[in-house]
Amino acid sequence: FLAGRGALVTGSTSGIGHGIALLLAEAGAKVMLNGFGKPEEIARARAEAGAAMGTAEAPYSGADLSKPEQVRQMVADAEAALGTLDILVNNAGIQFVAGVEEFPDAKWDAIIAINMSSNFHAIKAALPGMKARNWGRIINIASAHGLRGSPEKVAYVTAKHGVVGMTKVVAQEVAKTPITVNAICPGFVRTPLAEAQIGPLAKQHGVSEEVALTDYLLEKQPSKRWIEVEEVARMALYLCGPGSGGVTGTALSIDGGWTSA
Ligand code: NAD
Repeated sequence: FLAGRGALVTGSTSGIGHGIALLLAEAGAKVMLNGFGKPEEIARARAEAGAAMGTAEAPYSGADLSKPEQVRQMVADAEAALGTLDILVNNAGIQFVAGVEEFPDAKWDAIIAINMSSNFHAIKAALPGMKARNWGRIINIASAHGLRGSPEKVAYVTAKHGVVGMTKVVAQEVAKTPITVNAICPGFVRTPLAEAQIGPLAKQHGVSEEVALTDYLLEKQPSKRWIEVEEVARMALYLCGPGSGGVTGTALSIDGGWTSA
């Protein structure tokens, strides 16, 4: 059902973004990838998405999303490579964990730029084309941390709350058009970003990695299991699919019950 649609998924060389890019491609969209990684990892991601699209490799932008001018260039490159940019998934993100007094200024700036401001710059650049073609889907991958706080994640929680707010405003501005703007708020998803937090937690609390996962990392996730990348990707696919046009300005949770508390 996405034949003829063009999609740009940021941070799609790994994790959630990679999963979303694959499902969009399988549903018929032409997808441009973005993100960092070793050359062979990027090549593999492009080949996998390409296979789903029936081409050798998916188009790719190496834009550094901490730089607004590179975000704008990425959107222009996507429009040129795909012919039409109908679906924008703002997914790239990083994490850093430290108490507020020890939190390095540079990490604050990077997280605000990549996890929040890049969404603004990409939306601003992509909206005129969506309006001209009278259809669009903007999906911001926020987090349960866009709706709840946790200690030692000041930049991440601030950025993700900002993304949820940005989603509401842009949705209202385009509400009379066939463009929808939504946030997806996952709990802990099994990806490199989340798995990297287990080792330090195990060390900090003197417990095994198994206990660090269930008792500390998933402390707030009542299901006590990872959300899988494909589950998040299926939610993104739903937002692009038939019957989704009335869903806009929302923050959709997929968090094993976290935000029910
Ligand atoms: P990941 O580390 O597997 O992937 C992150 C992607 O972003 C990679 O492709 C990376 O290269 C890219 N990236 C990082 N910095 C970039 C930059 N400056 N410019 C361009 N690309 C950059 O992480 P993930 O877990 O798949 O996270 C994806 C999104 O989902 C993030 O926004 C994250 O905050 C959010 N999220 C993750 C979880 C989780 O538990 N994994 C939970 C909720 C929300």
